[in-house]
Amino acid sequence: MATPEKIFELIAEHTTDLVCIHDSENTIRFATPSSKSILGYPAHEIIGKKLTDFLSSDFIDEMDFTTLKRFFDHPETRIRYQVKHGRGQLRWLETTFTYFGKNPQKDFTLLTSTRDITESVHLTDDLMAALSKEQEISRFKSNLYSIASHEFKTPLAVIQANIEMLRIKRSEKVLNNAIGSIEEEVDRLNSMIADMLELKKLTTGQTTFRPDLLDLEELVKEVLEENIRKAYPDTDIQLKPAKKPEKIRADYTLLRFVITNLLGNACKFSDKKDRVIVAVEYDEEDVKMIIQDFGIGIPEEEQASVFKSFYRAKNVGTVQGTGVGLAIVKEFVDLHKGKVGLVSSPGEGSTFTVSLPK
Ligand code: ADP
Repeated sequence: MATPEKIFELIAEHTTDLVCIHDSENTIRFATPSSKSILGYPAHEIIGKKLTDFLSSDFIDEMDFTTLKRFFDHPETRIRYQVKHGRGQLRWLETTFTYFGKNPQKDFTLLTSTRDITESVHLTDDLMAALSKEQEISRFKSNLYSIASHEFKTPLAVIQANIEMLRIKRSEKVLNNAIGSIEEEVDRLNSMIADMLELKKLTTGQTTFRPDLLDLEELVKEVLEENIRKAYPDTDIQLKPAKKPEKIRADYTLLRFVITNLLGNACKFSDKKDRVIVAVEYDEEDVKMIIQDFGIGIPEEEQASVFKSFYRAKNVGTVQGTGVGLAIVKEFVDLHKGKVGLVSSPGEGSTFTVSLPK
């Protein structure tokens, strides 16, 4: 039968946790050979040091000094922290502390047992990310249902009312009015559904970013002619041409969405007879698209929120929408490493500026 000394020696030699004995100053006086795998240094190199000497600079930056000191000077049961391993990688460790009674010898005050928990920390991070993605999707779904039941109902009600009317009377005038109005509402429904699908693609990571050389001003013209002027025939939309047009690298589909949404909003939140001014300007590094309207404007306290999905400002009145367009615009501009600026004043109008690096 081995002696108790031999048994302790065997345990110390073979433990996979790092076991250390510290003096009253927390300095390591004894360490098991497992320090080589846990901290990346052989036991004799960590003697005379403190566990805090191995903390990663990122971890130190994140904690304030008093918390850090309390952490190691009056440890409760266990602490988790990040160290720079001898081989240079960052590792997460967990240490438990045990004091040797009330009146310990000066050099032998405290026993610590330390284990590498990097893998479980990463696993937890991955799980948390998956969970928050899951929560985001579930919030998205519940918002979608409430939008669907409110906003989609209005155009459907208009379509329904027109059909009822046609059942009663089918004169040429009624027929033309009803068809016009049904077409308008179908377009509205289509664009709401398109916004929703785009947002779904974004939240589920299916949006693709394929930049190519394109002329921003040409794209603005295309959107104006193909979409906006048809939908808002009474709005006076002026395009101020760029002085020196250049091609930029951007994703055609994503930018087309950005322009359609911002121009559509500018018209939608303006009086029909109002003006909308669009300008494309190039400077040294960026290209800017400036869209100015003279419509209802956005209250200052809501200007940051309008870029969140499903948010609609309080002054929208009966103007229909889902509140997702600007959230998508922001994400799409972010993908281009650009910025969206907003200056707005209620009752006077809004100016949205999209800056994209050339
Ligand atoms: P939607 O137009 O479907 O409501 P958006 O996400 O495009 O959603 O816009 C979010 C909100 O921002 C709008 O509901 C409105 O309150 C505000 N908004 C956006 N553009 C304008 C604008 N040009 N003028 C006034 N308010 C605007």
